[in-house]
Amino acid sequence: MTNQAKSTFYSGLQSTLDQLREQGLFKPERVISSRQGSEVMSEDGRMLINMCANNYLGLSGQEWVAQAAIAATEKYGYGMSSVRFICGTQTVHKQLEQALSTFLGTEDTILYAAAFDANGGVFEPLFDENDAIISDALNHASIIDGIRLCKAARFRYAHNDMADLEKQLQAAADKRHKVIVTDGAFSMDGTIAQLDKICDLADKYGALVMIDESHASGFMGKTGRGTHEHFNVMDRVDIITGTLGKALGGAMGGFTSGRKEVIEMLRQKSRPYLFSNTLAPAIAGASLAVLERLSSSTELRDRLHENTAYFRQEIERLGFTIKPGTHPVVPVMLFDAPVAQKFAARMYELGVLLSGFFYPVVPMGQARVRVQLSAAHTRAQLDTVLKAFEQAGRELGLLKN
Ligand SMILES: *Cc1c(COP(=O)(O)O)cnc(C)c1O
Repeated sequence: MTNQAKSTFYSGLQSTLDQLREQGLFKPERVISSRQGSEVMSEDGRMLINMCANNYLGLSGQEWVAQAAIAATEKYGYGMSSVRFICGTQTVHKQLEQALSTFLGTEDTILYAAAFDANGGVFEPLFDENDAIISDALNHASIIDGIRLCKAARFRYAHNDMADLEKQLQAAADKRHKVIVTDGAFSMDGTIAQLDKICDLADKYGALVMIDESHASGFMGKTGRGTHEHFNVMDRVDIITGTLGKALGGAMGGFTSGRKEVIEMLRQKSRPYLFSNTLAPAIAGASLAVLERLSSSTELRDRLHENTAYFRQEIERLGFTIKPGTHPVVPVMLFDAPVAQKFAARMYELGVLLSGFFYPVVPMGQARVRVQLSAAHTRAQLDTVLKAFEQAGRELGLLKN
């Protein structure tokens, strides 16, 4: 590059960044100086009640989980310096894959460094130009990217719209294999995919069903197995992807689970698995301990749902509008983008950490703050948060009641 070309490159980046700042779309990083938890310490030493982590079961900062990671490190070392198929597979990885299969009710499971990689590497080995992928319009970015890497025909149905899904299945009728893909639960609205209806449509049109359980594994359904348990369709879902980086401990790591033929093919052909390092033993060991705990007791899952029900009821009682539902993601609708920004900033001053979302992350006129409940929240913490909502709501003139 000539100096002129270089300087055009860098100044172009700078002006795009400046634009993001002007449009209020720049994402700063909040720095936390403590463990993750229902309360966190900010860089300047303030304690904040945390309402924006995907820490649904409160495990991220838990001492027994950290100790399980330390024990696995003691036994298996820090890392493997290898991909799985060369010399990166330890007993703890096989045990975790087995435990995930048992937990999810599937035949086999393959681990990845992240759910992003699981979704990035699931389509291309299984589907080609003869096939069709039928995807919910609001599916996670990693599903969209994974589909892009695959030659199958793409069909998109309006979010959560079963009539449109059926239309797309009809449009894809001449394709060899068809797979319907959806997030099990959607992180912006807390919407739960209608898996019972999706499985019925899949049966009617001879399609496979794939769900991404990143916002469901560990707490949705009677015993926390996920959305497929919630809808009583555990034996009707073909492929499950998910993360170890949210409810199931919160470090990192992902998986794909399903029939043994599918998983065996992914071990042969899935590029993020073949060409990226094995999951750290500490994470594998701690995840295993988490699954053992969740399989022996639904206590954390039950507490999460109690907290969710309490918060949903009380926030409505205060006069706020929320998206109805039962998921621990609770969107508190403020509609107007500047109001949502002001509200989140005021809540921060009042000691509550939550995030505001506005266009283009959510549709125009749908600005909101998103609350995420955790099993780790105490009733006292939730009451403090509700008081802060009431105060900020009054100050900004937002309460209906
Ligand atoms: C968070 C998330 C992912 C990515 O998970 P990582 O393990 O952090 O890569 C994938 N899909 C969905 C639906 C998610 O919410």
